[in-house]
Amino acid sequence: MRIAVFPGSFDPITIGHIDLVYRAKDLFDEIIVAVGVNSKKKSLFSLEQRLEWLNLVFKYDETIKVDSFEGLTVNFCKKKKARYLLRGLRNASDFDYEKTISQLNHIIGDDLETLFLISKPEYSHISSSIVREIIKGEGDVSKFVPELIVKKIIK
Ligand code: ADP
Repeated sequence: MRIAVFPGSFDPITIGHIDLVYRAKDLFDEIIVAVGVNSKKKSLFSLEQRLEWLNLVFKYDETIKVDSFEGLTVNFCKKKKARYLLRGLRNASDFDYEKTISQLNHIIGDDLETLFLISKPEYSHISSSIVREIIKGEGDVSKFVPELIVKKIIK
């Protein structure tokens, strides 16, 4: 089984994340979209809320699972028997950051491979952090997050 973990904060999930998962879908038997719980990183949305939205988005797809983990990504991969990580690259700063993490994960994760997909140009400006800023400013995020959660975000 080719299992990949797509780790992230997903605070909240954006259409950029979703596009990445569907583009990678045929490459793997299973993709686990996993919320990494980082106690130092303060999230806007609770873990439960983020998981609920991920489950809503991917509920019709049997090969895409949703999960969460604490601690090192490599340990979660080992537990799930995943040999691959999936990550997206939007720009050069993503690359600089991801390169080091991927090299470290390859060493400490016993040859765990990271597969990178370059963001589509129409999604490369979208990030959860920008979406959070717009939400805090009570702006319109309907062009950045999936339709089914827009109504839930804006009360
Ligand atoms: P993290 O806090 O780990 O960066 P994110 O939820 O922000 O978590 O991102 C998870 C992954 O999704 C990262 O690999 C990131 O590069 C990728 N990603 C985020 N937004 C986009 C986008 N618009 N297009 C493609 N990939 C994206």
